[in-house]
Amino acid sequence: MTSVTCKCGEICLEIENDPMMHFMCHCKDCHSLFNGPAKVFIYTDNDICITGAHSTYSYEGGSGNDLHVTFCSNCGTRAYTRPDLIEGLTYVFASMLEGHIEFQPKVELFTYNRSKWEHKPASVVESYDHNGTLERIQELLENLEQRD
Ligand SMILES: [Zn+2]
Ligand SMILES: [Zn+2]
Repeated sequence: MTSVTCKCGEICLEIENDPMMHFMCHCKDCHSLFNGPAKVFIYTDNDICITGAHSTYSYEGGSGNDLHVTFCSNCGTRAYTRPDLIEGLTYVFASMLEGHIEFQPKVELFTYNRSKWEHKPASVVESYDHNGTLERIQELLENLEQRD
């Protein structure tokens, strides 16, 4: 089990297992919320336990489904997002984890909005101009499962 905290230490995430997948999203919502693309490790809800004061902001994402971002009420660090689109998954922001430099996206979404100076990462096996279909993403989750 890994324990990680936000910048100020208020929020603690206890994480079991390795992530199921790494993905990044270049959509406009992510750019405004995260000052750039979201870099995310996907876990199941059962892998994550959160303690400490936190807030949640919900908004409608590019797929038309709601996303719920959880952030520290004190320092504002974004900890994770839960999507209504695929139930049971928690997207932990790579910046929360010490292993963030190991982040190697397999999938990227909304590439039409990728910054001009940014290139497609060599690790990417699937790029979607807009949002990938749910079916395709579930298929990728199964095929690209990065857990041992
Ligand atoms: Zn904090
Ligand atoms: Zn996005």
